[in-house]
Amino acid sequence: MSFSNDVRAELARVMPNKTCCRRAELAALLLLNGSIIRAEETILQVEVDNAATARKVFLLIKEELGLQPAVSMEQRKRFRKTRVYLVKSVIMPGQENVFSILELTEEDGVIKRQARWKLLNKTCCKRAFLRGVFLSRGSINRPEGEYHLELILPDPDMASEMMKIMSKLDLEARQVERKNTQVLYLKESDKIADFLLTIGANIALLDFENARIIKSMRNSVNRQVNCETANLVKTIDASVRQIELIKRIVALQGWEYLPPHLRELAQLRIEYPDSTLKELGEMLDPPLSKSGTAHRMRRLEELADTLLAEN
Ligand SMILES: [Zn+2]
Repeated sequence: MSFSNDVRAELARVMPNKTCCRRAELAALLLLNGSIIRAEETILQVEVDNAATARKVFLLIKEELGLQPAVSMEQRKRFRKTRVYLVKSVIMPGQENVFSILELTEEDGVIKRQARWKLLNKTCCKRAFLRGVFLSRGSINRPEGEYHLELILPDPDMASEMMKIMSKLDLEARQVERKNTQVLYLKESDKIADFLLTIGANIALLDFENARIIKSMRNSVNRQVNCETANLVKTIDASVRQIELIKRIVALQGWEYLPPHLRELAQLRIEYPDSTLKELGEMLDPPLSKSGTAHRMRRLEELADTLLAEN
């Protein structure tokens, strides 16, 4: 099962306690999955892709709107066989006003929000609404891979509204258009963790944080390896330069030109081009510390510079 499915399965089981939040979440579920069908009877139909979400929709419609829903399952054949769950509630004459509780209206079978929408004034309700949106249109990558969370929204108006709501919850999303849909997405692991916390996906958040810790440890090991490689490259670069200088001294003046302690180091340098100064110091007789060897190497380089400047 995908991580998205795990998160949605968890969220489907989160039932808000307060009426205000229950209504806010139901509004999201109806706005994104609901429609009104007018035949002999008027039916509110909500279509979702899993049984747990269907159960949540069922409970919220029953308890908040006072309707009598029924859940059914259908096999659809789109790209591949998919199951959809339908929550259908008959709206009796006299119940047409039922959506006003959620400050929603209906227009040609489409459920819309009222122009002045106060339903989401409170932070608790914004969070519940966002949970409903993620349940309906959210997806998230497994944290072991590339960090990515997105909400796929049907139109620009809803996308910009959602941006505002997220921004008020300190979740700054980015927006991109993809095949006639608007995608709001988060890429930073901190923001994704905040998002999961905000919508109450606590188990998913733990999984996410665990994977994040393992990943960051792995990165730090890699960094260390890279750092060691960088040091090695530095040693070799220096060694190549030193060997070049020594060869020029010897070419101009012969080995005898160098005082014995510098000559010894110069000969070791040429013999062991891959060794660090510390290692060369240990080979000297008597051995010399790393800083002592570095000092001696500097004197050798100065001598070469002076000599080369004169010639
Ligand atoms: Zn609330």
